[in-house]
Amino acid sequence: MSKPAYKRVLLKLSGEALMGDDPYGINRGTIERMVADVAEVAKAGVELAVVIGGGNIFRGVAPGAQGMDRATADYMGMLATVMNALALADAMRHVGVVARVMSAIGIEQVVEPYVRPKALQYLEEGKVVIFAAGTGNPFFTTDTAAALRGSEMSAEIVLKATKVDGVYSADPKKDPDATLYHTISFDEAIAQHLQVMDATAFALCRDQKLPIKVFSITKPGAMMRVIMGEEEGTLVHV
Ligand code: UDP
Repeated sequence: MSKPAYKRVLLKLSGEALMGDDPYGINRGTIERMVADVAEVAKAGVELAVVIGGGNIFRGVAPGAQGMDRATADYMGMLATVMNALALADAMRHVGVVARVMSAIGIEQVVEPYVRPKALQYLEEGKVVIFAAGTGNPFFTTDTAAALRGSEMSAEIVLKATKVDGVYSADPKKDPDATLYHTISFDEAIAQHLQVMDATAFALCRDQKLPIKVFSITKPGAMMRVIMGEEEGTLVHV
């Protein structure tokens, strides 16, 4: 059997990916399917770090947060990611994957704090590490947390799991001529104003020469094809 293309990856899961077709929250079937993919990756011997979003529960700039102090709303968003991380770790436990949640904000009674050497140790031991609470700072996103933790963990690539199957030349919902890029450089993506991740996350990946793979979380087998280095989604390269 062919070997995985990567030894260590950082997987960014948006909170919305957990919703399935529900309007908010965590859809049981969806999280189970996702975790089955994660289990396959872990069993292939790939060290897996996960950054989970919180948009399915709370988004700092959402209408519900209007009038709220931005930083306060953002802390609520970060707490939402902790809930998702707990749900994800629990779903992993059900399928025999050992996971550890580490939070960027201190809530020790619930999850352990993020400590870089400890996270690296868990990865080396074959445990999945789920990073919760984003960067721990308001005014940032979990995409930036993915770029940051991916760099700190020396991951070979950031895998951005989304609802679309990659980066298109235009919005495929609006433009029938939109084409999917299989590969694109950071510079080309900037020149063509393509939104791959938010600007801070994108700049950090580019500076750190950390490639990004955008792929569909809903497409069966896509995550494993990405891991095996097969053609799937869009690779953003240096
Ligand atoms: N957030 C934050 N700092 C971070 C990460 C997240 O303040 O480092 C807040 C922010 O309010 C954001 C929310 O948490 O809207 C949820 O994160 P995000 O929008 O990145 O989640 P996703 O879109 O991936 O579900």
